[in-house]
Amino acid sequence: MDLIDSFGRTVRDLRISVTDRCNFRCTYCMPAEGMVWLDRSEVLTFEEIERVARICVEKFDVNSLRLTGGEPTVRAHLPRLITKLAALRLSNGEKPDIALTTNGATLRNIALELRDAGLDRINVSLDSLKAERFFAMTRRDELVNVLAGIAEAQLVGFTPMKVNVVVERGANDDEILDLVAYGRDNNIEIRFIEFMPLDATNEWERKKVVTQDEIISVINAEYPLEIVPARGAAPADRWRYVDGKGTVGVIPSVSHPFCADCDRVRLTSDGQFRTCLFATDEFDIRALLRNGGTDDEIAELIRTAVGLKWAGHQINQVNFIRPRRSMSQIGG
Ligand code: SAM
Ligand code: SF4
Repeated sequence: MDLIDSFGRTVRDLRISVTDRCNFRCTYCMPAEGMVWLDRSEVLTFEEIERVARICVEKFDVNSLRLTGGEPTVRAHLPRLITKLAALRLSNGEKPDIALTTNGATLRNIALELRDAGLDRINVSLDSLKAERFFAMTRRDELVNVLAGIAEAQLVGFTPMKVNVVVERGANDDEILDLVAYGRDNNIEIRFIEFMPLDATNEWERKKVVTQDEIISVINAEYPLEIVPARGAAPADRWRYVDGKGTVGVIPSVSHPFCADCDRVRLTSDGQFRTCLFATDEFDIRALLRNGGTDDEIAELIRTAVGLKWAGHQINQVNFIRPRRSMSQIGG
């Protein structure tokens, strides 16, 4: 049975955060120091994650599972979880699409293992091609490793590769064309993300958001673009280069919210179910998992949460309330 919210949107995508921890400290996501991590006992086990995913896939035909975090690759034995998820089947017998969002720092060593475990797609985050700036934005000296990780992932068959770039005015907005050139030359779809008010240090300001319109006009002036129609439920608007050298996307969460087409729900690493990145309420699936809840009871909680999903986030309203947790704690 499909999982449909009160605005008629069908849930097809479950974003699963496998850890709140990370080996980077990106300025727009985490503080330099002082993050308080979840205790190991609070984090869902692979068996618990698999159970929630199975209910979503088997009962509700959720056909896309995306692993995220924190940094998912710092969770020990991640390929074991992927193997479990890859064994799930939709009502039509097909395997759900399994994707991973990663900072790419360790991808060089694990790309093959991830592919062999059944991972279908990888998105890597990369905000600068300049070593010093990369360090300033992530607080880690890992640019060389990330670039090598992307190359290795492509080599083992993760194509087309997508690279996410958070654009922040005054930080990396002068690199839009360099990143576009890198994407065009390496068969990578660059996806620029508008900076969202989900940083841990409350430094988000509207003037730091470089909007989709600005990003597209910069690219179009150098590399003429034409829109790829029919985004559907995907968060990115996409354009193709008129000269045929691939595509580029923008995730315009702030300037052009895509909530009306949203098909996503989220499971945090401590087992809380959320229907929006910006939701201010969570539903405690872990309590059910650990107190003898049946599959039907878990499914019912998911149905209730989805029934209460709001029409859209309020970033552009005066009454916008930031979620209690930041991006890495929710799962981006
Ligand atoms: N650690 C992995 C990574 O960086 O790809 C996965 C988790 S991260 C929270 C998921 C995505 O959220 C990344 O592409 C990251 O750049 C993006 N992100 C984090 N904070 C953001 C913010 N304040 N605004 C927009 N995007 C953000
Ligand atoms: Fe870590 Fe990803 Fe957040 Fe950067 S964006 S600090 S890599 S979780």
